[in-house]
Amino acid sequence: MIYAIKGINDLLDNDARLYEKIIQVSSKVAQNYGYSFINTPHVENTALFRRSVGESSDIVGKEMYEFKDKGGDSICLRPEGTAGVVRAFIERKMDKAGVVKRWFYHGSMFRYEKPQRGRYREFHQFGVECFNIASVYEDASVIMLLCDIFKELDINYQLKINSLGTPICLEKYRSALREYIKNIENKLSFKFCSDCEKRMQTNVIRVLDCKNENCAKHLDKAPKLSDFLDDDSKNDFNKLQEILKNNNIDYCIDERLVRGLDYYSKTAFEFVSDEIGAKAAIAGGGRYDYLVEYLGGAKSYGVGFAMGIERVMDILKSKDSENIIKNAYFCVLDDEYLDLAYNTVSKLRRLGLSVNLVYESRKLVKHLNSALKENYQYFIAIGSDETKNNQFLFKNLYTSQQKLVDFDELKGLI
Ligand code: ATP
Ligand code: MG
Repeated sequence: MIYAIKGINDLLDNDARLYEKIIQVSSKVAQNYGYSFINTPHVENTALFRRSVGESSDIVGKEMYEFKDKGGDSICLRPEGTAGVVRAFIERKMDKAGVVKRWFYHGSMFRYEKPQRGRYREFHQFGVECFNIASVYEDASVIMLLCDIFKELDINYQLKINSLGTPICLEKYRSALREYIKNIENKLSFKFCSDCEKRMQTNVIRVLDCKNENCAKHLDKAPKLSDFLDDDSKNDFNKLQEILKNNNIDYCIDERLVRGLDYYSKTAFEFVSDEIGAKAAIAGGGRYDYLVEYLGGAKSYGVGFAMGIERVMDILKSKDSENIIKNAYFCVLDDEYLDLAYNTVSKLRRLGLSVNLVYESRKLVKHLNSALKENYQYFIAIGSDETKNNQFLFKNLYTSQQKLVDFDELKGLI
């Protein structure tokens, strides 16, 4: 027996139903905000992620599925969705033309992580990206778009926001943070973890994102990013808060929120939930006004988010009953009626009705029991009594109402 790869799962039955529901709801909400669907490849040149996500990130540093293809090119399975969408934007010269684009995407992402609840090696994201809008109103819109998705799915969350300022503010902040860390290490003879040691060389603000409690404890009095913001970033951050308040969106400011990727500027945000373990992130995003340039395009503004579908599914599973209601159960009481039943069911399906035909003939009560057990709403049977008058036995399994009906009546009932 050959099994699926660790951390890479099938999607079926109730999970598949929830997955479809999440995609449907999210796509509809994104369309309400002017976003349209884009699909980019699952495989890209490794360089795309090295440059955009950043060498110092966990994703590029430890988690990429990267390999040489038969031609010797270094390619990788996408670990996130933004870089591919940005590449598609630049490849069509939309950056040079200054086109405003609003796209949403969904699909598999791959990261070589330690598999555990809510953390898999293949997982799925739903995300949006907006290009060439500098206005902070769009930052508010992508946040509100996520709030609408969670409201529609009946999911409780907490929203955390922060501002990362511009690369200039960030550089000044990095120096101050590095200084602070060196001081702590010298004065308290405390050593930050080996990951943090590396982060100090590559991108020191990632130290703020360290999950190690000892490191986190020593950062309580670290310099605050908010003290390093320029006026423009401060104004945008204040405006964002004003818009959120005006639209009754609760949030808290988290000065440590720096996000896992290298390319954010100004707004950064994360949605967390307690329903799947302590404060798990269910979505995150922000502004990335420099990413298009990093990837060789013309200066273009960008803002977006990515939502973890498995984590949202986990929350829904904990409250959603598995009682999937099926529409109609159609059956025959004798084999000789199967052709008639098959033709009738085909006609109903072409009218857009969902009908399941059972090919085996059985006694009425046996069929009825199966239909009830499998949670059908309507039951239709053909036996000799019914066919005499071109009729069907129809039963509403919820109300127990039962009658003989002809085709025209039947199609209006199910
Ligand atoms: P985390 O801190 O949990 O590792 P992240 O910062 O790496 O998250 P992002 O890159 O921002 O995550 O991805 C957006 C969302 O995708 C996350 O908020 C999370 O819900 C989901 N996600 C990230 N990695 C995984 C994974 N390995 N398995 C399942 N979902 C994931
Ligand atoms: Mg991660």
